[in-house]
Amino acid sequence: MPKNPIRKPLVAANWKMNTERAEAAALAKNVVDSIGRQYKVDVVLCPPYIWLHDVGMIIRDSNISLGAQNMHWEDKGAFTGEISSIMLKSIGCKYVIIGHSERRQLFGETDENVNKKLKKALTVVLMPIICLGETLEERESNRTAEIVTNQFRSAFDGISDFGGITIAYEPVWAIGTGRNATPQQAQEVHKILRQMLQNKTAEYENIRILYGGSVKPDNAAELYKQDDIDGFLVGGASLKAGDFAAIVQAAMI
Ligand code: PEP
Repeated sequence: MPKNPIRKPLVAANWKMNTERAEAAALAKNVVDSIGRQYKVDVVLCPPYIWLHDVGMIIRDSNISLGAQNMHWEDKGAFTGEISSIMLKSIGCKYVIIGHSERRQLFGETDENVNKKLKKALTVVLMPIICLGETLEERESNRTAEIVTNQFRSAFDGISDFGGITIAYEPVWAIGTGRNATPQQAQEVHKILRQMLQNKTAEYENIRILYGGSVKPDNAAELYKQDDIDGFLVGGASLKAGDFAAIVQAAMI
């Protein structure tokens, strides 16, 4: 089936733990100057928590939205170092990344945590970008479909209304490695995810599935041509405004 135009493309920048204050401001300004007025692609910047306010002020009169890289599932309390969904809402976030593989692998985030965060994000009307994907070992032992299926089931356990939800397929072996999935490899998994959505909701054609993993200006267009790739979650290349803008451009075609 060809790409369904009902899904507006979305390209999100995950700055991870990068940028000092002045760099973050300059990067946000450059992104606004290059792609802040277009309306064909939903563009989201996810800076480190500490720059959410600064970046929010810089993008506020543009078509770019603010997102966070993580959140806690509780509203408040004795959770030193954590940030709640309510805090993110009150600083102007519209989106939140949940279950990024770095959170899962480096900080012990479980499928159960992802599900709790997702449910909380929906209750405060933050739009979650739910990340999932297999490791290299899992891919090489032909377990990709099984892994993403299990991650999908756990993440969306108890969810029937998918309004506002975005999924990001991010093969762990492609994140920050310079080795992207081929368009065919990505489409294969996106199709599985679309079918899983179809089993859950009549709205499955409306839900955006992003690809993430070493997306660059020179591979974005081929990836975006795939029927079920509705945009990108971009790490490294989002730290250069020109590269990020070129990736956004690739999702307009
Ligand atoms: C990411 O952090 O989600 C990511 C995809 O990183 P990179 O683009 O650097 O692979």
